[in-house]
Amino acid sequence: MEACKRCGRKLKTPKSIEVGYGASCKQKHDEEEAEFLKRQITIYEELAFQEMVGQC
Ligand SMILES: [Zn+2]
Repeated sequence: MEACKRCGRKLKTPKSIEVGYGASCKQKHDEEEAEFLKRQITIYEELAFQEMVGQC
């Protein structure tokens, strides 16, 4: 039986099993991932700025 990777509850639908998350957990996971990617861009921009300024 497949379980949700986020909350560990059993997955009922083939779609949930396919993605590995329940419907609501998939949504939260996607939101977190989007937030994470946004932060990554910010970090790269920060590094680029530091390089430009020439100090750590
Ligand atoms: Zn879940």
